Amino acid sequence: MTGGAAATAAVGTGPASASGHTGHEDEIRALIGRMTVAEKLGQLQQLAWTGATGPGGDQTAVAEAAARKGELGSVLNIIGARHSNALQRIAVEESRLGIPLVFGLDVIHGFWTTFPIPLAQAASFDPETARTDGEVSAKEARSNGVHWTFSPMTDVTHEPRWGRIAESSGEDPYLTAAFAAAKTRGYQGTDLTAQDRVAACAKHFVAYGGAEGGRDYNTVDVSESRLRNLYLPPFKAALDAGCATVMASFNTISGIPAHANSHTLTEILKEDWEFDGVVVSDWNGVGELLPHGFAADGADAGRIALTAGVDMEMVSTHLVDHGARLLASGRIREDRLDDAVARVLRLKFALGLFERPYADESAVIEVPTREAREAARAVAARSMVLLKNDGGVLPIAPGISVAVVGPFADSRDLQGTWAGPGGDKFPPVSVLAGVREAAGRGAKVTYGVGATKNADLIVVVVGEGARLSGEAASRSDLTLPGDQEKLIAAVAATGTPFVVVLLNGRPLTLGDWLGAAPAVLEAWHPGIEGGHAVADVLYGKVNPGGKLPASFPRNVGQLPVHYNHENTGRPYDPENPGNTYVTGYLDVDRTPQFPFGYGLSYTTFETGDPKTATPRISAADLRRGETFDVEVEVRNTGERDGDEVVQLYVHDPAATLVQPVRRLRGFRRVTLPAGERTTVRFTLSAQDVGFWTNALDGRFVVEPGDLVLYAGTSSTARKHCTVVVT
Ligand code: BGC
Repeated sequence: MTGGAAATAAVGTGPASASGHTGHEDEIRALIGRMTVAEKLGQLQQLAWTGATGPGGDQTAVAEAAARKGELGSVLNIIGARHSNALQRIAVEESRLGIPLVFGLDVIHGFWTTFPIPLAQAASFDPETARTDGEVSAKEARSNGVHWTFSPMTDVTHEPRWGRIAESSGEDPYLTAAFAAAKTRGYQGTDLTAQDRVAACAKHFVAYGGAEGGRDYNTVDVSESRLRNLYLPPFKAALDAGCATVMASFNTISGIPAHANSHTLTEILKEDWEFDGVVVSDWNGVGELLPHGFAADGADAGRIALTAGVDMEMVSTHLVDHGARLLASGRIREDRLDDAVARVLRLKFALGLFERPYADESAVIEVPTREAREAARAVAARSMVLLKNDGGVLPIAPGISVAVVGPFADSRDLQGTWAGPGGDKFPPVSVLAGVREAAGRGAKVTYGVGATKNADLIVVVVGEGARLSGEAASRSDLTLPGDQEKLIAAVAATGTPFVVVLLNGRPLTLGDWLGAAPAVLEAWHPGIEGGHAVADVLYGKVNPGGKLPASFPRNVGQLPVHYNHENTGRPYDPENPGNTYVTGYLDVDRTPQFPFGYGLSYTTFETGDPKTATPRISAADLRRGETFDVEVEVRNTGERDGDEVVQLYVHDPAATLVQPVRRLRGFRRVTLPAGERTTVRFTLSAQDVGFWTNALDGRFVVEPGDLVLYAGTSSTARKHCTVVVT
């Protein structure tokens, strides 16, 4: 849409007040009035308990001494109510003002009960999975003395080489936003004082997923419009859901490190969005302003970070070390210091720590409960994506003999990156164990390559170990590591039907073996109940309904390849401009191996043409808050009950800013009995059809013109209708 007067809508810019962060302002002001400069600076310090290898090494002793002096705000990585209570007692009972500490931990996809990795959860296209994980994790964590988790990870990325894609919700901002909001609600509920809730932290602010070449921590050079249209919306969604805190990111943003970036941290986050919660640095993120080549020395790093908008320093100690001198010499402002302290105190009041600083040692959850395991199993099964199923090899017929082979068949390496304290303590159910249970008595299940001779079906379990994804775990080669492709070729040579089960933390390049494999199930790193969940799907107890949250490339040279790219002047399919991939290479198809939103089922579905009763709507009405509906009928045309994810994409064919060929603007996972149909209704607003311009002060526009709405069951859906915005 273009031409005519663009309507500027104040969409998605409303205040993001952290939930529960009101009602204590007088107490906060009074407390700050009584604090010394050293006590104020102390509130801005977070030290690491055990295992810290960064600056200062293990900071346990330092933390105790600082807590006693009332010069410490927070500790991360202290696990166990007994330990955290002991340290809390020092802060509350021995320090001058008795301000409690807030304890943080990376509870990313589980505390004791490891859920599937976040990328897998996104593949469910059902944000309820993330809410469930958040709720179970919060309960286990809080009972063990943790108040604050450094999650949800709200980074959008187009880079499967980046190891941290495993922690993300993939390549789309709309999907990521939905999961960020749901996970936040799961962690926080409506009352952070509740002893089964923890404060959430949207991270990493911002554009961390845009690192060059997918190399962790690397440079990001990003236009203002891309920042606002691609990277910022999931953060806004988390904050609108009440997310109490935000973590700055390790990357630079167009030359300015994120920890030094007043445009993103202060102008956008704190001023435009009116965020009143805590901005915590990433691990030594303030210290890294030196190697970034942005700060001259430690004092400079502290000054720059605080001034830009960082409120709490994780692990490095530049603010407590130099803050008093910086303040005395006027290099940091007292009102900014007080604002940062107020934010930290607000978080502590919201968590109810002043009234109830200690965890109840008689109510500690010590193991994954049966209910928690069941929830993790259901989420894992819901996250799986059936990539291929020729000739209906799956589901496995009852009673047939099965050989389970491959390096991950009996592996305990199913938890994935950032598995939390439960990752080491509570080993997951292996695929072999799951298959043995599901096959039942009487059915023959054998293990190992040598056993395959008399099997009716071979299940080949391959993948990447957990350490191959996550932080500082980027890969330049996305094939199955080691000899796994050879193993699949050997299995194919037996002539026995086989199924490949993938356990991995990112999109992989599947290579030539894909052609030979009759069936492929993407199971991701499925967590503690992984083996059960895989077997649930293989044996048809659960009909798979997950969809890819990130495109699978054909080879690494094709990267980045993602559905929401911008068009070039030379689309190869002018009939269908919303369905093109950028001009490609001579030696590989332009399309990805499997596109965003793709996934099969044991049944079949058909979707109808999208329909709207509002073929015309004015930009002014949209700006005033009017919406329009689009309806899509979906029918289960097969013989089994199953789930389908109906997806709606918009394309703006002529705009004052070149638009992505498609943008996801609605999705709904529906369960349909065989032969049944239902109609899914999507409601679209200005936020869904407009876009942010390149204006540095943020301009969201809804332009007049055509808007093409594509609907179907993946990002390559062709059925569409048009709405004219006048
Ligand atoms: C990671 C963060 C994490 C922090 C604390 C950093 O290295 O980037 O995501 O929350 O460590 O463990």
